[in-house]
Amino acid sequence: MSDVSMIIGGERRAAPSTFGVVNPATGAVHADAPDCSRQQLDEAFDAAAKAFVDWRKDEGARRAALREAAARLAAAADRIGPVLTAEQGKPLKAATMEPYAASMWLKYFADLEIGREVIQDDKRAYAEVVRRPLGVVAAITPWNFPIVLSAWKIGPALLAGNTMVLKPSPYTPRSTLLMGEILAEVLPPGVLNVVSGGDELGRWMTAHPTPRKISFTGSVATGKHIAAAAAPDLKRVTLELGGNDPAILLDDVDPAAITEKLFRGAFDNNGQICSAIKRLYVPEAIHDDVVDALAARAAAVKVGDGMDPATELGPVQNRPQFERVSGLVADALASGAKAATGGAPLDGPGYFFQPTILTGAAEGTRIVDEEQFGPALPVIAYRDLDDVVARANATTFGLSGSVWSTDPDRAAAVAEQLECGTAWVNTHVALGPHQPFGGFKWSGLGVENGPWGLAGFTEIQVQYRAKN
Ligand code: NAD
Repeated sequence: MSDVSMIIGGERRAAPSTFGVVNPATGAVHADAPDCSRQQLDEAFDAAAKAFVDWRKDEGARRAALREAAARLAAAADRIGPVLTAEQGKPLKAATMEPYAASMWLKYFADLEIGREVIQDDKRAYAEVVRRPLGVVAAITPWNFPIVLSAWKIGPALLAGNTMVLKPSPYTPRSTLLMGEILAEVLPPGVLNVVSGGDELGRWMTAHPTPRKISFTGSVATGKHIAAAAAPDLKRVTLELGGNDPAILLDDVDPAAITEKLFRGAFDNNGQICSAIKRLYVPEAIHDDVVDALAARAAAVKVGDGMDPATELGPVQNRPQFERVSGLVADALASGAKAATGGAPLDGPGYFFQPTILTGAAEGTRIVDEEQFGPALPVIAYRDLDDVVARANATTFGLSGSVWSTDPDRAAAVAEQLECGTAWVNTHVALGPHQPFGGFKWSGLGVENGPWGLAGFTEIQVQYRAKN
């Protein structure tokens, strides 16, 4: 039996069987998690549907519960952090920050207004547009930020009056299950159910007749399967999918002044951020200076077990992803690219990869065209600004991008031309609960966060009162 439980109808539940969870720092199974049965999933959806009846009625109670949930998460950060590091690999300090960030998101939604708009008030009628909850939401999350990305869904969905069945990735289920146990102490039974299992469990969820909405964060490929699975029942979907973010440096940047920001934009969380810098475009004249500075920074990084306080970057999260990153880097090197630093896995057990800066790779090479989602960054020289904007946009992805210059107005004029959901100037991966986050093209459908994200967990209703 697993030491962490699912939460169904407010109760801690074991499953008929368990599955092993690997610690990516060792490559070995370190613990297990419940493997939710089909019958238990039915029970979870039933519990959510029953809880919806009362939960939707009292907005004040929902706000109070979300505030309490936020406080409990922050108070449990030191319990959740080590569980997250053991299964995800990220350094303990970053893992402990996740519950705090999640708490901040829940607090933001606890206080966010649910808009009502008067659209007509004349002698014929009084009409208002109001927001109604959808019902039960099926929420499915990936392995890179299990706690934060769950909060992006829990906060707005519950505030709007919906109830939820949440499923974390099979690679990182335990931190989310622990979060579910903690939140079950303050949320009414059935409002938030947490189940764990493999991808098959996700397929059962999307095909299930009870949920009216699927809120999904993960890969483009799975997002397309989910959109197709939702279609026969016209379930609402929000899809937060992959990215292949370009960062474009203009010719007036001072490489030394921006190296740290660029490095963190590409390598934080070991590059496993949907909106990390995945292609860096640099004017030819400063290309070598930028490469040298980034390579020196990357070479100085302490890579290791996330439980070691000295560790800056942990392992790649799972074996398939480790093999994918290794394969993309090997393919680039075989195609003529050079590694300014790194370029290969590190020796020993665990999924450790050297932080890698590549030069000489361009469009047509897989690591430039595809999402690497790992600690390897291609730096690409360019001559013409219009041409580089076109190259940055010539992709099926469109999550975010950035432009860098000592003249922010000049950078903003270029950033406006990027076809993506967030266009940053002189920064990358700056996110907040008030910012709608989503992708153009294959990077997603709909947005999360802010009033726009909240709206995605509602249906619009017109309340129309005739006046004679
Ligand atoms: P994934 O798509 O493999 O899995 C995500 C979740 O979907 C997991 O819980 C998995 O069990 C479940 N799942 C898999 N197949 C399913 C199916 N057919 N039906 C229902 N559920 C299914 O993604 P991943 O590898 O865990 O995450 C990495 C990807 O997530 C990257 O592409 C990254 O860019 C993306 N991502 C996007 C955002 C964003 O906000 N846009 C944030 C983080 C990660």
